[in-house]
Amino acid sequence: MSRVYNFSAGPAVLPEEVLKEAAAEMLDYKGCGMSVMEMSHRSSVFQEIIETAEADIRDLMQIPDNYKVLFLQGGASQQFAMIPMNLMKNKVADYIVTGQWAKKAAKEAEKYGEVHVVASSEDKTFSYIPDCSDLDISEDADYVYICENNTIYGTKFKELPNTKGKTLVADVSSCFLSEPVDVSKYGVIYGGVQKNVGPAGVVIAIIREDLITDDVLEGTPTMLKYKTHADAKSLYNTPPAYGIYICGKVFKWLKKQGGLEAIKERNEKKAEILYDYLDESKLFKGTVVPKDRSLMNVPFVTGDKDLDAKFVKEAKKAGFENLKGHRSVGGMRASIYNAMPIEGVEKLVEFMKAFEKENL
Ligand code: PMP
Repeated sequence: MSRVYNFSAGPAVLPEEVLKEAAAEMLDYKGCGMSVMEMSHRSSVFQEIIETAEADIRDLMQIPDNYKVLFLQGGASQQFAMIPMNLMKNKVADYIVTGQWAKKAAKEAEKYGEVHVVASSEDKTFSYIPDCSDLDISEDADYVYICENNTIYGTKFKELPNTKGKTLVADVSSCFLSEPVDVSKYGVIYGGVQKNVGPAGVVIAIIREDLITDDVLEGTPTMLKYKTHADAKSLYNTPPAYGIYICGKVFKWLKKQGGLEAIKERNEKKAEILYDYLDESKLFKGTVVPKDRSLMNVPFVTGDKDLDAKFVKEAKKAGFENLKGHRSVGGMRASIYNAMPIEGVEKLVEFMKAFEKENL
């Protein structure tokens, strides 16, 4: 067996320890004689899996008691609709557009109400985070929406926007559990888990209780109401059970690493290795304004498309997979989520140095 260094933006690398444990439990989960994939979601065994997963994420993120944790389906993209359907009481929302995912979310919300783009970094291909300290927040905005880490462009909000008292909603798909957060500053934090937390198919939404009501937009399907899932403790219908089980294992793994403070330190160390090299390289350069750089997604270019393609090809041959940048930006992108070991980044930089020597 040989495993590559997988720099995919998502679905992405998971901790090897978790994969091994899951493999060992595949045929017989703790003496049940069946896999977690095969068991009823109403069984006491699964009940324990989902309850433990919830308790562990609450502990990791220090989630206050007045927040619900929902395990949902439909990908992060389904939240683009669920958020306005559930939160747009005045039918007005403010969006900060820092990339394609925020833009898509804003476009979806337009179906349900008035959307104001109160800040955007599209003028410079989303290579920075706009100043959000004094925005023209709409008086009747039901919420202010951000995509906290922009997977495609490699930017991250280092400071949350000043929402002037309005509810903050954040898509944290690509920075989920990568560092501590103050949950109380948000109304909704949600993310698809397929980058930092588990297999695609699970979305975790952490929602302040007062935002979970029956007062949703007319015509909202039962399955798209947060209250449906909150009332049923994420078991209204069959949940993505196997995915939740893997997320639970990743939560345990994170706790074993020392929790989110420790993982942040490790993520900073990894990112620094790569950014320091990008800053000194004469061939490669990062595409993001330094102060807004993401710890998770690191886009870079040589400035020459053919050379970029050559790099991606040679890197793949050397065991560094999925380094091609998103189709909308080109160049390269190394996603270095929680489960990417430091050696993976060190070896990538060594490889880049050798490539630079040969190709400059
Ligand atoms: N938001 C962000 C920040 C993302 O990176 C992605 C996917 N890469 C999405 C939303 C969409 O996720 P999904 O494919 O689960 O709908």
